[in-house]
Amino acid sequence: MGLFNRKPHEPAEGGPPPGAGPSSDKMALARQWQEQARQMQAQAMEMQAQALRQVAAVQQAGGGEAAVGSMSWARQVLAILAPPQPGFVKRCSCVVCGAPKKLPTVTAYVYCDYCAALVDYDLRRACEGDTAPDPAYAAMVNSTRAAARAAVAAGDRDTYRDLQKRVFAAYVTQVPMAVSHRAKNDPGYRDAYVAYMAEADTARAFDPGYQALDAEMKRRVMGLRYTGNMMSPTVAPDSFWPVADTLEKQLEAGKVLYRSAGVTELDPDHAEHLTAKLGWSGFCQGWLGMLPAEAAADLLGRAGLTNEYVPVQAEDGQPRHCGGCGAEFHALPGATAIICEGCGRRMDLGSAEIRCAACGAVMTLPAGADRVACPFCQAQVERSGIR
Ligand SMILES: [Zn+2]
Ligand SMILES: [Zn+2]
Ligand SMILES: [Zn+2]
Repeated sequence: MGLFNRKPHEPAEGGPPPGAGPSSDKMALARQWQEQARQMQAQAMEMQAQALRQVAAVQQAGGGEAAVGSMSWARQVLAILAPPQPGFVKRCSCVVCGAPKKLPTVTAYVYCDYCAALVDYDLRRACEGDTAPDPAYAAMVNSTRAAARAAVAAGDRDTYRDLQKRVFAAYVTQVPMAVSHRAKNDPGYRDAYVAYMAEADTARAFDPGYQALDAEMKRRVMGLRYTGNMMSPTVAPDSFWPVADTLEKQLEAGKVLYRSAGVTELDPDHAEHLTAKLGWSGFCQGWLGMLPAEAAADLLGRAGLTNEYVPVQAEDGQPRHCGGCGAEFHALPGATAIICEGCGRRMDLGSAEIRCAACGAVMTLPAGADRVACPFCQAQVERSGIR
């Protein structure tokens, strides 16, 4: 999710000052520790800045500051909860049609098995893969920051928005694990998502109220106290909760802002109900690894991210194959549409299945596609061919 820029096994830059060693005096050691503490705070700020983008960008971002690193430390923290087991799926229900989630998921984005609406976001799934982006992406993002600041100073929303579109366009292709799998092969979804993210970012950047909360967040992050050793610093919980309080205010402010700025309706998943959850998820991924276990559990509770998993129920489903990628999925009785977990394409289940004339494979064509290259033999398969 673009949040994991901490490398637990690497000491902060700088290291011991020249000449420092077992014989160096206490002052040198103290200076060294001070410097490391300063760098740790800078790191925390960087993480927080990234978490903030996710927070307010509704559908997680990471576009702002590109992270390069590993997330194994986050995985360790999340192990305080039972990890999702094969054969289990997050317990949740569709906000659109009311159906319970039954079929397995592959990414953090949980889509309805009956109507293909985005239902939920599974933080523990999000933490499974390493989403460290390419260093070239990080460089590209960092190179836009000065221009973005200048655009804000000049009140130039159009330039700012264009910059963010470039950033998010790179983000969806270079950090695919961090965005919905729908962005992988559905250009319409991808473009809408990029436009939506850029607009959300722009709304935040030009809103004085939101910027004041950003400043408050920075102050509170700077006020954090750390314990533990330098290799794995721990945030003192009493200094951390004010940070979470500010996040809560930001999520509230973001909701109001997105509505008034017309951002909400740009969301290609129409998932305003997930705004806060996605915000808390990004925040948790930034901070869980630096909290003592008990506080980490409290944070997950406060964020409403303590998941429950239920067994997958695919028994009464009709096995079908996706004409986009060949993956098998189950069409449950009464289902009208589904998002393929293999490739993210949307499929209307009302349409007839189609047989490939070359290899005989039977498949369901993605919505809006009249022809595909057979995922099994590459021959052209046409919808019109079976009429
Ligand atoms: Zn539904
Ligand atoms: Zn597929
Ligand atoms: Zn074929």
